[in-house]
Amino acid sequence: MLVRRHHDEPTRLGKFKEIVPIGLNNTSEDVIDVRVPSGLRPRVAIIGGGITGLAAAHRLVELAPTVDIQLLEAGHRLGGVLESVRQDSFLLECGADNFITVTPEATDLCRRIGFDDQLTRTNTGLRQAMVVRKGKLHRIPDGFIVMAPSKVWPMMTTPLLSPLGKLRLAWEYFVPTQTDAADESLAAFAIRRFGREVYERLIQPLVGGIYASNPDQLSLQATLPRFIEMEREHGSLIRGALRGRASQKQRQASGSGAPYSLFVAPRDGMSSLVEAIASRLPNGAVQCNSPVEDLTRNPEGRWSLSLGGDRRESIDVDAVIVATPAHRAAKILATVDHGLSTRLSNIPYSSSAIVSLGYERSQIAHALDGFGFVVPIAEGRRILSGSFSSIKYPGRAPAGFVLIRAFVGGPAVPNPSQLSDQELVALATEELDALLGIQGQPTLQHIVRHAAAMPQYLLGHCDNVREIESRASQLPGLELAGNAYHGIGIPNCIQGGEQAAKRVLTTLDALTSPALTQ
Ligand SMILES: Cc1cc2nc3c(=O)[nH]c(=O)nc-3n(C[C@H](O)[C@H](O)[C@H](O)COP(=O)(O)OP(=O)(O)OC[C@H]3O[C@@H](n4cnc5c(N)ncnc54)[C@H](O)[C@@H]3O)c2cc1C
Repeated sequence: MLVRRHHDEPTRLGKFKEIVPIGLNNTSEDVIDVRVPSGLRPRVAIIGGGITGLAAAHRLVELAPTVDIQLLEAGHRLGGVLESVRQDSFLLECGADNFITVTPEATDLCRRIGFDDQLTRTNTGLRQAMVVRKGKLHRIPDGFIVMAPSKVWPMMTTPLLSPLGKLRLAWEYFVPTQTDAADESLAAFAIRRFGREVYERLIQPLVGGIYASNPDQLSLQATLPRFIEMEREHGSLIRGALRGRASQKQRQASGSGAPYSLFVAPRDGMSSLVEAIASRLPNGAVQCNSPVEDLTRNPEGRWSLSLGGDRRESIDVDAVIVATPAHRAAKILATVDHGLSTRLSNIPYSSSAIVSLGYERSQIAHALDGFGFVVPIAEGRRILSGSFSSIKYPGRAPAGFVLIRAFVGGPAVPNPSQLSDQELVALATEELDALLGIQGQPTLQHIVRHAAAMPQYLLGHCDNVREIESRASQLPGLELAGNAYHGIGIPNCIQGGEQAAKRVLTTLDALTSPALTQ
């Protein structure tokens, strides 16, 4: 539906709300062409130029092109934890290397900005993951997706579990459903349903590799709520997974560990997606090197942002979307609402490092017949996982070479940021040499540290977020979005940013008066 509303007559922004809810169905025709008298353009600031802030800014422009947006980024570049680097003909990802398509927000955004032809799927044929047991890599049983075994035979024949572990796994079929609504940790749930061995050998490394932490304290409700639904609906995850296998979705997801057929990556790396979104924003909207230090609300209800760094100035806006990590949001909002700030700072973050290493193929003895491996804590190693980046996606390494990413963090190395480059490379190469039979030194080394970058959805997270959102809703024109709240994946972040943009537009009418937008 094409919606064009031209406010050529001296219309006030009082009409703004009326046009906003129309056309939010993601079609390319979702254009709301608002024309307001000169000087009455509402101004919205977005703090943080990661994927969340970019998605929010883009959605504002898409829905209401006449809104004056300011995307304020503390660093010298956009993208936040997303960054790609070309080095010696390798294409390296500093953060995320792909995203899932079942949560459609990321692919939808790509389609709307004409970027969908840049997305590439994982290489077919090797869509499987491995897990380390006693220093050797073994295939994760076919059909085992995070916590749901959808095929019986591979589970019963896997060398990853002892006979007793397999018996306990099969017993899951008969484990009664938990009716207690209390928040349960991911570990407690997994052990209750499958037994300790399946948890320690399969579930813990798969989840630990995503959150860079030990799932002992992670809230199942906040991280993987679909397994609670599965238990409630089917009485057993095995039963649910077996039934689900018949469905189209599960068939597409064949493989193990992660449903690799459902992942995509930008052909030229995540930075190309960041650039594509940024290129759709109006000239002058993006301001890097602009850290926001403080936010205050003036008596008229507008927001004043104090910029630090070299800028040392303040900007007044009608509404603001805070799309930074929660610990940064806590600082920015400290004077606005102390309670809100405290709640935000209660969301802990873990740190990690990615060590990318390039090798000649002939240096590696292992067949590399999969996309990578995860490492159980029980193995006592110092990496969480290893990803065979150039096997997973094309174009990541020159011919005859292999690109491997070691993910460092978790209980074994909780503060990788404190290690030097040499220490990180030594740690990663020692572990990879032992696990993959590598001879000699890597031809390429690249290190990225992510200090306090991965939010930890601990027990009580959903309650904390509910309270945060309730407090934020008392502050008209303030929206929070980012990976701290409703999911850490790129599609979740895009969804959060876009929803924040939509909420801003629906409340802007009440916040904006002509006298204040001069
Ligand atoms: C190592 C790693 C691997 C990952 N792998 C995957 C994956 O494969 N697939 C997937 O879907 N997800 C993955 N994720 C998760 C996903 O990448 C992130 O959750 C997501 O990119 C976070 O985006 P964001 O915009 O919310 O936050 P960020 O990327 O953290 O961006 C926040 C931005 O705010 C800026 N900022 C902070 N303070 C201020 C301030 N005061 N003023 C102005 N700007 C400020 C920062 O500089 C930053 O640019 C991974 C994450 C990490 C760390």
